[in-house]
Amino acid sequence: MTTIAVLAVQGAFIEHQRRLEALGCTVRQLRHEADLQHSFDGLVLPGGESTVQAKLLRDTGLFAPLRTLIQEGLPVLGTCAGLILLAQHLDGSGDTTNLDRQLAAKRTAVDGFRTLPVTVQRNAYGRQLGSFHAEGLWLEDGAAHPDGAPLPLTFIRAPRIENVGPAVQTLVTYQDAPVAVRYRNQIGAAFHPELDADNRLYRLFLDLL
Ligand code: GLN
Repeated sequence: MTTIAVLAVQGAFIEHQRRLEALGCTVRQLRHEADLQHSFDGLVLPGGESTVQAKLLRDTGLFAPLRTLIQEGLPVLGTCAGLILLAQHLDGSGDTTNLDRQLAAKRTAVDGFRTLPVTVQRNAYGRQLGSFHAEGLWLEDGAAHPDGAPLPLTFIRAPRIENVGPAVQTLVTYQDAPVAVRYRNQIGAAFHPELDADNRLYRLFLDLL
């Protein structure tokens, strides 16, 4: 039986839990350091507010042990705020037209795991509306998948992936920019796969286990 730990200190963790359970996984919510005593096969970092999550990760004592597990190869899926927590670099520059001043000022104010070699800019998609739906291109080995239907994408004040390191594989693109990437045991997505009825990203994650 596959057991997935879902970080449950803040954000959209219940939606991930439901999807993973529907795919046959056992889900364990991580709220306290003591929750790490039970073993698990993979980790999901949900969307939400990355500044808050980074702070709560430290307050709960989960930060250091999780960072070590990720570095040691634990499969991890980070979505939206979860991607920001994984990103090695945050970019504070860029267009802030129509972006709430507070959100613009906090673009780089996240002290995350910094294990995924990408640069992201927080709150870069969906400035005015905050959220929107779109369709992405599902890639395989860097090219459009022959029978790949477009992937439904839900963006909610989403981060933009601006740069990817040399060993980072792009999984999904939107308007020619990467919106889901993989580096070894880590998958990061700018959108919310838990909100659309398409299991491809989950299956890719579960294939890493
Ligand atoms: N804007 C949020 C952040 O920067 C991420 C939004 C989300 O997870 N939907 O943390």
